[in-house]
Amino acid sequence: MSNVRRLPRYTMSNSEHPSISAACYCGAVKVCFAAERQSIVHCHCGECRRLSGAAFTTWVSVPRQAMSVSGEASLSSFQVTPNVTRHFCKVCGSHVYSADLRLPKIAGVPAGVIEGGLSALPQAHYFVGHKAKWHTISDALPQFGGESGAEPTAA
Ligand SMILES: [Zn+2]
Ligand SMILES: [Zn+2]
Repeated sequence: MSNVRRLPRYTMSNSEHPSISAACYCGAVKVCFAAERQSIVHCHCGECRRLSGAAFTTWVSVPRQAMSVSGEASLSSFQVTPNVTRHFCKVCGSHVYSADLRLPKIAGVPAGVIEGGLSALPQAHYFVGHKAKWHTISDALPQFGGESGAEPTAA
């Protein structure tokens, strides 16, 4: 933990063999990462809603250390907030990952671009206080909200 490599750009490393891949719709951009340390949550914040055009975004958190991106010539980025930057394919528009300066060891990959399904199921809903009024959460997963989006909500 104390000796994390600093990678200014994500590059394929011969010593790692990422086992999960994600790809944009047109296939120009691919993201590969190791399977471990996943957390999967549905985020109902206004940024996720507007930037995806859907009710919420399902995020898979992956370790950045073992992550690689190919097709960088087709990659573009948008700084959503001072801390958060989204990276997307400038050909087809698919969002392929996000980085948050507050969480330098992980990247967020939208579940919908991951190829071959997920190894685990989503675990929670975040930012439920900001969710679209026209969307009803109909599963029994734990719900969190508040300003951080991750505070327990009064049932
Ligand atoms: Zn694309
Ligand atoms: Zn969000």
